[in-house]
Amino acid sequence: MCIGTCWRQLALHFYIDPTMDMLSEKSTLATKSTQLGADAPFPFNDHEMDAILRSSDRTDFYVHTAMLSVASPVFRDLFELAQAQSLRPTSLTGSSMKRCVEMAEDRHSLDLFLRWCDTRGSIPLEMTIPDIATVIRLADKFQVEGIASRIAPHLYQFIESEPLSVYAIAACHASFTHDNATWGNALARRAAKQLLMSPMPFQTPTYEFFKTVPAIVMEPLYQYHRACGMSVRENIQKHHISWLSNRSTWPWLSQCTCTTQGRIPQVPDWWRAYLIRLCELLENQPSATTILALNSDDDLMSVITHSCHCTLGNGNICSAKALHDAERFHAGLSKYIQEAVDKIVLDFSKRKMK
Ligand SMILES: [Zn+2]
Repeated sequence: MCIGTCWRQLALHFYIDPTMDMLSEKSTLATKSTQLGADAPFPFNDHEMDAILRSSDRTDFYVHTAMLSVASPVFRDLFELAQAQSLRPTSLTGSSMKRCVEMAEDRHSLDLFLRWCDTRGSIPLEMTIPDIATVIRLADKFQVEGIASRIAPHLYQFIESEPLSVYAIAACHASFTHDNATWGNALARRAAKQLLMSPMPFQTPTYEFFKTVPAIVMEPLYQYHRACGMSVRENIQKHHISWLSNRSTWPWLSQCTCTTQGRIPQVPDWWRAYLIRLCELLENQPSATTILALNSDDDLMSVITHSCHCTLGNGNICSAKALHDAERFHAGLSKYIQEAVDKIVLDFSKRKMK
């Protein structure tokens, strides 16, 4: 449960609308149907249970009303309504009648969700991001405490491969008054940091759940990314320009005799152009990984050999030392990037409320 006001509560009208869904559930109660649905898979095919949850694609999940009523006040209300309005035969002879609730969820979603709130069900070992989003959405809708925080650790495995989806799910459960209050804050921070190596605008996932994530949940991420980009650029330009352009530090500068016309004294033009390009790249992808992921066209050694036209470029530089110093250059630059990023906090409290 979030402490303080939570993005989840703000996002309810967009991301999860329990009122709408409850109405949907209730309205189907009035629809009389004597047709039997197909049995759900084990363990939800136990006809000894006292109620049926019927999925939208007509699969019957046999459940224990007492167990689900304790876990969820929404289920408790639904079962009470069902008792009043709808008893269904569970065999063709109609000899056994059970409470039946027609659900808005399909068989797959209901199966996933019930495995997390019914003690008879085993939790799936592998879940996709949409599966996890479904379980968390239904836990919110049916107000089952604890499921979201129990399932959240499964999202960490997707931080590298699908950071934007992880961020969206986590940010919907982040508190914006108590930064360390929820699992959502911690996970959203990790995902936002991972996304620093991706340029904005981000490539949007095609998942259905992502289409319902409200813009107010995404805005802190964009602000964080932009702030990190500016911080990295400023840190490099203002504080470490002397390190970057120190002729005695870098062999490609000490040996180069190419033209120097820039404001930085005795720094060849090609080097200055390279640093500008590097800062532009890092402003949009402010991560140390950006430097490590540079391909051969952008690599420092390639810049030296293609851009420098003096004797340095003709093989006079000691390539072994230059290679070693290039690694030192990248490591040093990574340190300055990290230093700049660490100053910035993913801050949900600075959101403009609409
Ligand atoms: Zn040169």
